[in-house]
Amino acid sequence: MKNIVLFGPPGAGKGTQADVLKDKYNLIHISTGDVFRNNIKNETALGKLAKTYMDHGNLVPDEVTIEMLKAEVIKNQDTNGFIFDGFPRTESQAKALDLFLSENDQSINGMVALEVPEELLIKRLINRGKTSGRPDDQDESKIRNRFNEYQTKTAILQDYYQKQNKYFGVNGVGGIQEITDRLVAVFNEI
Ligand code: AMP
Repeated sequence: MKNIVLFGPPGAGKGTQADVLKDKYNLIHISTGDVFRNNIKNETALGKLAKTYMDHGNLVPDEVTIEMLKAEVIKNQDTNGFIFDGFPRTESQAKALDLFLSENDQSINGMVALEVPEELLIKRLINRGKTSGRPDDQDESKIRNRFNEYQTKTAILQDYYQKQNKYFGVNGVGGIQEITDRLVAVFNEI
């Protein structure tokens, strides 16, 4: 199995690239943000809870997110592997994921990170907000808060995977196809 964490700050292009890569490698794409948004749309209890955090650009609490992620993995047993997009976002999530996979004789092959400068990310997110309808893309203060969450809680995961020799940085600036080609070069090796 190929289990890959597709990593990067908000607006790095994880969702766009995961869409292409899941088909190329026949993997299940799990975006925790998308799962939360579906729950919000369907007005589930999980959605109502997640919305109170997401609308402000805050992270949803770990326990809730981890349980949801496990349920998504369990739902998709018959697969070549997973692209995790937007998960893990904290060290406890990363540890929980390692433990959960190891219980099933699995592991993460690598964290593949899209590296994009912050000023470009903000421009991309404001642009996306014009069409995505996402409340957390709509104003700069929410976007800044998401970056703050990223810097304080998520960025350290680079270290976490680097220590296991599983961190692969990829230049995330350029055309979509160009970036896909760079990612494919890494995906083929891990
Ligand atoms: P995304 O679609 O990945 O940008 O995620 C949108 C929002 O969903 C984030 O700003 C968080 O509020 C929430 N979210 C998504 N994934 C996670 C996660 N792994 N941990 C906590 N919150 C998350």
